[in-house]
Amino acid sequence: MPPKSRLGQNFLHDQPAVRRIVAALGECGDRTVVEIGPGRGAITRELAAKAGRVLALELDPELAVRLSTEFSGGEADLVAHAVGSNVEIETVDVLSFDFAAASAAAGQRLIVAGNLPYYITSPILLKLAENAGALDRSVLMVQREVADRVTAEPGSRDYGLLSVTVQMHGPAERLFTLPPSAFTPPPEVHSTVFRWRFAPRFEELKVDREQFLRFMRQVFALKRKTLANNLRAAGIDGAAIAAALSDAGIDPKARAESLAVEVLAALWRSLKKTGAISSDEVAPTVH
Ligand code: SAM
Repeated sequence: MPPKSRLGQNFLHDQPAVRRIVAALGECGDRTVVEIGPGRGAITRELAAKAGRVLALELDPELAVRLSTEFSGGEADLVAHAVGSNVEIETVDVLSFDFAAASAAAGQRLIVAGNLPYYITSPILLKLAENAGALDRSVLMVQREVADRVTAEPGSRDYGLLSVTVQMHGPAERLFTLPPSAFTPPPEVHSTVFRWRFAPRFEELKVDREQFLRFMRQVFALKRKTLANNLRAAGIDGAAIAAALSDAGIDPKARAESLAVEVLAALWRSLKKTGAISSDEVAPTVH
């Protein structure tokens, strides 16, 4: 069965790396671990040995049947939803998987692991962020440049919308990087594993989640512009912007890329207080 590049199938064959990924999850002997994209099962096998239960979500039905057969001791059922020992393989698109229902059924917050299919990395990270309440922690492999952005600190070259979006849902830390030769077939990029603990900060920073994330899309809309210019471009009144920047202690010439989430939250609260931003504004779409 040749790998399908359109499904991001670059299989990890570096066994020490597999062990490091699973070790980075921490103790999970009594936990349900959801694996995104088990593929040929490299990580799944290690998880099966360490986790209480593994729920592996694979879009490719051929791979799902193969894995189901392996984990059910030779017999997979027709819908590739075989149950064997502590591993279940579900043939499903991770983007339509119901994490909240799975967490409720398990009676605990889920742990997530995966060497992600890179063609949908951002949608998967956003899906996990949306479901942060159902999740405890994750260890994920992504393209190195994505990990750079996810874990970036304010003022660094890579800090932007993705950093803020991820970090508002909990701390993210880089763990290690692998060269293309760790995979079959080798991808064109290096890959980095990072850990993301889910601990949303919206309540602590007194911001409404949906409104604040929409505001962040406005704030980071145009990379080289100042924060004030981006806010003006989003239709916010210039005098209100100047007052809010001053209120939040932000240099009027600052760019969003230099500001920590705590400061961006203070700015949102200040604009909100004066009514300069309302709950029904439509933000421009940023990719
Ligand atoms: N975990 C395996 C490994 O490390 O060798 C495979 C990782 S491979 C980079 C990504 C896997 O995700 C592939 O098996 C692919 O078929 C699967 N996949 C692609 N799109 C998916 C989706 N939308 N939902 C679930 N799995 C998907």
